[in-house]
Amino acid sequence: MKLRTPYFKDNFSEDQPYDSLILIAPYCDFSCKGCQNIDLFKSPIKDYDISVLAEVILENPFVSGITVGGLEVLKSGMNFMLDLGELIKLANISRVTIYSRFELDDENLFIFLEKIKDLECVTELYCKTGEYIEGLGSKISNFYYKGNPWSICLGSKNQDFNIIKGSELVRLAVNDDCLK
Ligand code: SF4
Repeated sequence: MKLRTPYFKDNFSEDQPYDSLILIAPYCDFSCKGCQNIDLFKSPIKDYDISVLAEVILENPFVSGITVGGLEVLKSGMNFMLDLGELIKLANISRVTIYSRFELDDENLFIFLEKIKDLECVTELYCKTGEYIEGLGSKISNFYYKGNPWSICLGSKNQDFNIIKGSELVRLAVNDDCLK
């Protein structure tokens, strides 16, 4: 089974409270002004064996989860989403972070997150949400993760970093301490 992505990279720790393998979603047609991922549109998309990606995760003692960022996961097609689910199951991944331009109240994003949450191995689910608006300014979300301070940088001030806990969707505010 193959997963189509421009690239992946392990030991990624910038935008979620753990080290992860980041996978780039391969497609987006939003054309946001000032898109920060413009280079990714030019990257060739390759097919990677899901078993190879799972091995990269399982063999790296520092990586404890996966992040899906880059272009827009919800625009990247059903196959990408299904293959992602297969990878999560195969590598027994407990921590997942999704970046999306959609808001949490978007029905399709909600359904997609529910599907990930339903995977037995997933115990921690995070989602960075919201449109990138050029010139609005960035924002840092500070919070505690398992007792340690952690900062997440959001590209524009309207975006949110959300923790999905059980059946709840928890929207993080700056200096929130809901994981303490
Ligand atoms: S949603 Fe993200 S990747 Fe897509 S055009 Fe907007 S900023 Fe770029």
